[in-house]
Amino acid sequence: MDTLKLFDLSGKRALITGSSRGIGFALAKGLAGAGAEVILNGRNADALAEAASQIDGTTHTLVFDATDLPAIQAAIDAFEADIGPIDILINNAGMQHREALEDFPADAFDRLMKTNVYSLFNVGQTCARHMIKRGSGKIINIGSIQTALARPSIAPYTASKGAVGNFTKGMATDWGPKGLQVNAIAPGYFKTELNEALVNDPEFSAWVAKRTPAGRWGNVDELIGAAVYLSSDASSFTNGITLFVDGGMSACV
Ligand code: NDP
Repeated sequence: MDTLKLFDLSGKRALITGSSRGIGFALAKGLAGAGAEVILNGRNADALAEAASQIDGTTHTLVFDATDLPAIQAAIDAFEADIGPIDILINNAGMQHREALEDFPADAFDRLMKTNVYSLFNVGQTCARHMIKRGSGKIINIGSIQTALARPSIAPYTASKGAVGNFTKGMATDWGPKGLQVNAIAPGYFKTELNEALVNDPEFSAWVAKRTPAGRWGNVDELIGAAVYLSSDASSFTNGITLFVDGGMSACV
């Protein structure tokens, strides 16, 4: 049996939201390395063009804000009509805001929910409508260790990433019978811009090293294997799960 062929993404096209940098960019590079054509997304056209120039293979860029449903529908429907099917969607765009819950500004709560949860509805539904017509498609939602566990000063983020886990189950339940597989990846602590304040805090880094069985921060490339698996034929009977890639953090107290 040609087992590696199960993971081959040649001939597939993948849209990764929030892929100008960080985890989204690493996943775009990783899927391209498995043969997929990748579509980079973010709100800054220059940053996307620069990111695309660093990926080998066919790349496209789609500029939209993942909280803006009409803009998303216009961009994705035009892409499907002009260029072709989007077979794989990774809902990765996300944000963080750290503040004690009693002081947390209402507008930051609103922005966080729109970016981390509404975006899954907006981009997920728009892509799924096309996938359902074809009877196949893969959607991967990016959760977090906070899909399972809380930490001080990020209660709204924890709520939003908890929602990602259950939304994934709901999408798999509604769209599984229509030929789609919808799963989530929950990363532990990875060094990216989103976590810059924590990376630069030696006390926090020491806590990550002590709290994580792997004894260190994750490297964004360590998320690629999970993303390729969940994007490929290898996961044809996997639906509704959240795969924790966290160096073992969620396994222990
Ligand atoms: P970064 O802040 O490094 O990158 C975020 C990306 O999303 C950028 O490309 C940004 O581009 C884009 N983006 C932000 N808001 C929007 C929006 N409204 N519409 C479209 N694109 C947007 O974040 P990370 O790579 O660290 O995080 C990516 C995902 O992984 C998030 O969902 C995060 O919650 C999750 N995660 C991260 C962890 C970590 O340790 N880093 C751990 C667990 C989960 P631009 O600003 O130009 O639009």
